[in-house]
Amino acid sequence: MHFQEIIQTQQAYFRSQRTKPTHERKALLKQFKKMLVDNEQQLYKAVHADFGKSEHEAFLTEVAILIKDIEEAQRSLAKWTRANRVTTNLVNLPGRSYTVAEPYGQCLVIGAWNYPIQLSLAPAIAALAAGNTVILKPSELATNCAQCMAELVAKYFDPAVFTVVQGGIEETQALLAERFDKIFFTGSPAVGRIVYQAAAKQLTPVTLELGGKSPAIITASAHLNVAVKRLVWAKFLNAGQTCIAPDYVFVHTSVYDTCLELFKSQIEANDYRLDAHNYVQIINERHLERLERLIEKEKIFFGGKVDRNNRTIEPTILRDVNLDDLVMQEEIFGPLLPLIKYQDFEAVLQHIENNEKPLSAYLFSNDPSEQKIWENRLSFGGGCINDAIMHITNPNLPFGGVGQSGTGSYHGKAGFDTFSHFKSVFKKPTIFEVPLKYPPYTSSKLAWIKRLLRFS
Ligand code: NAD
Repeated sequence: MHFQEIIQTQQAYFRSQRTKPTHERKALLKQFKKMLVDNEQQLYKAVHADFGKSEHEAFLTEVAILIKDIEEAQRSLAKWTRANRVTTNLVNLPGRSYTVAEPYGQCLVIGAWNYPIQLSLAPAIAALAAGNTVILKPSELATNCAQCMAELVAKYFDPAVFTVVQGGIEETQALLAERFDKIFFTGSPAVGRIVYQAAAKQLTPVTLELGGKSPAIITASAHLNVAVKRLVWAKFLNAGQTCIAPDYVFVHTSVYDTCLELFKSQIEANDYRLDAHNYVQIINERHLERLERLIEKEKIFFGGKVDRNNRTIEPTILRDVNLDDLVMQEEIFGPLLPLIKYQDFEAVLQHIENNEKPLSAYLFSNDPSEQKIWENRLSFGGGCINDAIMHITNPNLPFGGVGQSGTGSYHGKAGFDTFSHFKSVFKKPTIFEVPLKYPPYTSSKLAWIKRLLRFS
């Protein structure tokens, strides 16, 4: 596989300076929005073909977010691209100091399959807004979405600016062997390592949007009905195939049995059936079998049925789960929710601290001291108090992980920043010169320098 031709074309385009003017970027964003709006039904069809997902959910989780992203970038581009003046220190006076956002150049975006359109196109929008060219490699597992994006991008964009390359491991590795100015990867920590190593060979800057087990806690002070309602929605959205889905829930012993019943009635109320258009399929057989293996039959409190023909698993609540159970050894990434009993808040915090830093964390508590401790103690990419997932929907909150759950962030201004290098410029007038730094060095010059440094 040779991608040199596409890469050279994009490099030449970038060096022609045509991606840089704000009006060019705005024109690309306008075209992007047109592509999404003109082909909304085609996108829904592709998402439905891959997951059996309803238009309602596809609109909310795939298309609406992208349109909002574009509008935000269109509105804010002038502000984001403006030089940012900073104070000039005494030693450098007279002079002006500022930072300028410059595009990296040619970007590689590698997407995941679970929200195949959003997770592939949102970074591309940020990269184009920041003035880069983009090669997008969507996940091969969401076949229909990958094909749909490839066709649409080819129809609406000059490949010298934005193009889609389809393929799996082999193609991704061939792409990674090339030199890019920035790599943006969404996927598992295991593949994140491969991407990071490939980038290191060329010293390419990377953003890694990874995953892991995101913990939720329901304390004795929580509003239980609200907690369960929000957790059920967050967990079973996209059948749990969400990087920031609550992976498991610690529930205080005193409210454990009440919560079990609430989970059951909330799941029933939500009517999670594929043919009722309230639920989605597991992406493929392999993942269905992986999830099936994680279900310990004797721990099922609710659900647990696997339908091979429909490729679905019922929303499943697992009770009395222990920390050494199989389901607690890997990111679940499916509709299984282990509820773990706890007595001691401190022990819960220690368990989370002893494991990899999660992409998200959720606390359901109305006790301000618990809230403060949770926020100060734990390290995680982002999270919510008394909600789950919704932090991702505020474009003013940077989205990303920390440690094993990722490095870097995006959405809104953070997305623009992620695809920009902020270069520092010091501009000095030529009319005036302080001779202190120049040889011959004398003791009086040194004394002056020391005096000046004390004041700057
Ligand atoms: P994945 O790591 O298997 O695949 C992601 C991409 O990497 C795909 O495009 C795939 O083609 C490519 N790839 C796979 N194996 C490769 C290899 N050996 N060498 C080079 N490239 C390879 O991830 P996935 O299964 O698509 O997604 C699930 C994971 O992604 C979960 O861990 C989830 O938490 C995480 N995720 C994170 C976010 C986020 O925003 N932080 C979003 C969605 C998913």
